[in-house]
Amino acid sequence: MTATTAMAATASAVAGLRFHSGKVLVDGEIRDPISQKTLDQIFPATGEVVAQVASCDARDVDAAVGAARAALDSGWRELNVKDRRRLLLGYARALAEHTEELALLQTFDSGMPMQMSAGEVIGAPAAADYFEYYAGTVDKPIGHVLPVYGKGFDYTLREPLGVVACITAWNAPVFLYAAKVAPALACGNTVILKPSEIGATVTLRLAELALEAGIPKGVINVITGTGKECGEPLVTHAGVDAVSFTGGTATGRHIASLTGAQLKRTVLELGGKSANIVFEDGEIGLAAMLSAGMVAYGLSGQGCACATRALVHRSKLEEFTKTALDTVAFMQPGDPFDPATMAGPLVSARQLDRVLGIVQRGVEEGVEVRCGGNRVGGDFASGFFMEPTVLSTTNDTTPAREEIFGPVLSIIPFDDEEEAIRLANDTPYGLAGVITTNDVKRAYRVAGRIRTGTLGINSYSVGATIPFGGVKHSGYGREGSLHALDDYSQIKNVYVELG
Ligand code: NAD
Repeated sequence: MTATTAMAATASAVAGLRFHSGKVLVDGEIRDPISQKTLDQIFPATGEVVAQVASCDARDVDAAVGAARAALDSGWRELNVKDRRRLLLGYARALAEHTEELALLQTFDSGMPMQMSAGEVIGAPAAADYFEYYAGTVDKPIGHVLPVYGKGFDYTLREPLGVVACITAWNAPVFLYAAKVAPALACGNTVILKPSEIGATVTLRLAELALEAGIPKGVINVITGTGKECGEPLVTHAGVDAVSFTGGTATGRHIASLTGAQLKRTVLELGGKSANIVFEDGEIGLAAMLSAGMVAYGLSGQGCACATRALVHRSKLEEFTKTALDTVAFMQPGDPFDPATMAGPLVSARQLDRVLGIVQRGVEEGVEVRCGGNRVGGDFASGFFMEPTVLSTTNDTTPAREEIFGPVLSIIPFDDEEEAIRLANDTPYGLAGVITTNDVKRAYRVAGRIRTGTLGINSYSVGATIPFGGVKHSGYGREGSLHALDDYSQIKNVYVELG
C-alpha cells in the first residue's frame, strides 16, 4: 500500500486488517467460489489492488440457493419466536462488539471516510440497531381476527416469502446489508446476499459474525460477482422467491423486467436527485450544511438521498451561494483512514470520469462553475478524488437532471412557493428531499406536495425506526420501520367454518 505522507493512515490501517479475499460464504462455510474466478478489488484512495472479490457464476448461485432453501426448510421458517428473538439480539450484540472492525472494512471496501464509517447514521453502529429493532418485532402481534358475515371465524397469519435474494450497491455496504437482512430474518426468510463486486470484505465479515452468534448455517449466504454473471442468474433462479435490490435505476428497471416476467416479489431501492428547498425565511447556514455539506462530506455525494439540488429563493441566492462555497472549502477530501478526514474519494476511475464528464457537459450548456470541477492532483493523484464542486444553474441542465453520485451541488433559483414545488417535482426521481423554512404552516403545506418517499424539514433522518424508500423512478418498497415487514412477508387468510 502506498505510504506517501498523505496516505500514511491508509498504509498503517490496511497493514493491520484481516479480511477474506476472493471468498464466498455458502452453507456456513467460507470458501473459494465454484467458478474459481476472482476480480481485483481496488482501493479508491490509492488506485491500488488490495484484495480479490469472488467472481461467481450460475453454479455458485445454485449452491447458495440450495443452502438457503435447506436452511429454510430445516427449521428456520418454523423457529419459535423466543429463539428467533434471542438469536437476532445475540447477533446485534456481536455486531456492536465488532463495530470498529466493521467500520475499517467498510472504509476498505468503499473509500468511505472512517469518520462516517464509524458514525451512527449509515456507519457500522447502524447494523446493530437494525437487528435489535427487528428482533423486537418477532414476538409482537402478527395478524388480525376479522369479522365475517357468516357463522365462521377468520384470522390472518404473516408468513415468510422463502428465499430472498438481496443485491446491494457499494456506497454504504453495512447499512444496506442490515436494512435488508434484519427484517428478512425477522419474518422467517433465509437470504442470499450479492454485494457489489467493487468490494465485499465487510459483507463477508457481517455474515460470518452471524454464524459466530449462532444463526444457523445457510440462513445468510454471501456470493459476489458481476451483475451479468452472478446477479442475473440469482434474481431469475427458480428457487429464489423474492428479490430486494438497491442500486441504480437502470439496473433496477432491468431486474424488475426479469422478476416481473416471473411474477416474483421485488423491492427496488434506486437512485435519487433530491432537492433542498431553501425558503427566504430559512436559516441559510443550516440550509448550506444540508445541501453543500451532504454533497461534500463523507461519501462525496455518493449517497442516494443527498440533496444535490439546492432550490434557493432568489432573495437569498447570493448569501446561500457564498455560505455553500465556504462549507465545501472546509470539506476537502483526504485519506479515508485518517479520522480527521471529512470527505473521501469517488469509488472508481469510471465513476470519476463519469462525474467529470457531467460537469463538462454542464459547462457546455452554460452552467457556471463556482468552485471545483477537477480531479484532485498532488499527493492524491493516484486515487479517484474530485474537488467538491458548486454550480449555478437552472433545473433543465444535465447536472441538474442526472443523478451524479459525486461531490457536485447545483444551485437553482426560484421566485415563489409554487415555482419551488414545481422545480422540486420536476425530476424523474422521488427518493428524498429537504425543506428549509421557519414557517411551520409553509412546511406542512409544501411537505404534502413534494413527490418523494421521504422528506425532512430543516433536517434529514434515516434509521431502523423510519421507513425509507422511493416513488417514481426511485423505486418501490420500504426499508426500516414496521413497514419493511410487509416487503419480506405475505399475509395468509384462514377462515374456519363454525356454522
Ligand atoms: P448498480 O446498479 O450498478 O449495481 C448495484 C448492484 O446490482 C451491484 O451489486 C451489481 O453487481 C448488481 N447488478 C448490476 N447489474 C445487474 C443485473 N443485470 N442483474 C442483477 N444484479 C445486477 O449500482 P451501484 O453503482 O453499485 O450503486 C449506485 C446506485 O445505487 C445509485 O444510483 C444510488 O442512488 C443507488 N442507491 C440507492 C439506495 C437507496 O436506498 N435508494 C441506496 C444506495 C445506493
